[in-house]
Amino acid sequence: MDTTVIIGNGVAGTNAAATLRKNGYEGAIKLIGEEVALPYQRPPLSKAWLRGSDRPQPTPIRPLSFFQDNNIELMRARKIVKIDRTKRRIRFSDGKTTKFDTLILATGATPRRLDVQGADLKGIHYLRHLGDSAGLRQALAGADCNDVVIIGAGVIGLEVASAAVDLGKTVTVIESAARAMARVASPATTNFVTQSLADAGVKFLFNKKIEGFGAAGQRICAVNLGDGTEVKADLVLAGIGATPNVALAEAAGLECDNGICVDLDMRTSDPKIFAIGDCARGDNIYAPGKLRIETVHNAISQAQIAAAAICNKERPAPVPPRFWSDLKGMKVQALGIAAGYDLVRSDATQDPSALEVHLKCGDRLVATETVNLPNRQSTLAKAISPAALIGV
Ligand SMILES: Cc1cc2nc3c(=O)[nH]c(=O)nc-3n(C[C@H](O)[C@H](O)[C@H](O)COP(=O)(O)OP(=O)(O)OC[C@H]3O[C@@H](n4cnc5c(N)ncnc54)[C@H](O)[C@@H]3O)c2cc1C
Repeated sequence: MDTTVIIGNGVAGTNAAATLRKNGYEGAIKLIGEEVALPYQRPPLSKAWLRGSDRPQPTPIRPLSFFQDNNIELMRARKIVKIDRTKRRIRFSDGKTTKFDTLILATGATPRRLDVQGADLKGIHYLRHLGDSAGLRQALAGADCNDVVIIGAGVIGLEVASAAVDLGKTVTVIESAARAMARVASPATTNFVTQSLADAGVKFLFNKKIEGFGAAGQRICAVNLGDGTEVKADLVLAGIGATPNVALAEAAGLECDNGICVDLDMRTSDPKIFAIGDCARGDNIYAPGKLRIETVHNAISQAQIAAAAICNKERPAPVPPRFWSDLKGMKVQALGIAAGYDLVRSDATQDPSALEVHLKCGDRLVATETVNLPNRQSTLAKAISPAALIGV
């Protein structure tokens, strides 16, 4: 019998398994991941998980019964250490092996680590897994945790800042760039969001370089900046981006370049091996150039594309990339890719707590960003045009 093995049981891998079955795939499916928990959603880890008094529960992507009912062999707490492309086998960390006919790599990404003096002190946190979020939540609840410093004003950093200020902490966000969310959103939106967070008490320091950390024993007590400033810190969250997990692919000789290189069907340089989600980088018809997108929507879309290719079905119709964030009561939503635009138009809404931004390249609507306008998403999604169709 034909066997598809999926390495990584996050949202990309789990949706690939589910879509294969939905498409009528009759072979064996093995969904393998190194984490112990039932596959879960990561977005709550930087939002609801950090607030509230109840002990939070993970949000499963699918209930356990789904895997049993769909004859998907879910293998948890199992790490893959090698792909043998010649023998078509993968090896587990305990030395056992299993064969594959088709392989899907859905290995995700790993938070980038700080590389300055004092970076290994206690009190410095990163956020990716359930355990990271539980540890951060516990530390935030500590009686001795008053001054919270967020390094990196990306989406995850701002979400943690938002939760920390809700918990009554003194919060400082330090960013090396000139503004927040510079990689994913336009200045119009980031200015709106930054102002709202600043109004709620978050202090922002832009264009700042981290020199190192001050210590009290083994614990962090301050963040030292390149300009000589010292920022008091009982807890630091570093949200400085993530690097794709490509080690397995690279060792197997698959083409990698800031991600596992894929074509429009999510095929790697080996036609029987696919890569999807945070670990994959390739063309996206909504923007010129190769992209690696780290969102839930992208992981699900790419899972559906790979599953269609494996089942010899037509590639699903393209939909614009999208992401959302919850920041201090604001629902921030983006459609398309905020790159290569030359015109930003802000639609005045009557509601001062809402915003709608259109990013245009010539006549083409490249992307939209909204705050507190969830009902606008389906209309805006239809208005965004793919770059490829107009020859960009
Ligand atoms: C805190 C946080 C908040 C987020 N909030 C949002 C949000 O609000 N909106 C949004 O759109 N996106 C959000 N994201 C991003 C989104 O969660 C990711 O884009 C998505 O989870 C990527 O899914 P994935 O399956 O590609 O990777 P992952 O979810 O990282 O899953 C990959 C899995 O593969 C496993 N693995 C890796 N290598 C091996 C191996 N060798 N053997 C076995 N298993 C292996 C990993 O342990 C991991 O469990 C957030 C991410 C984080 C961390």
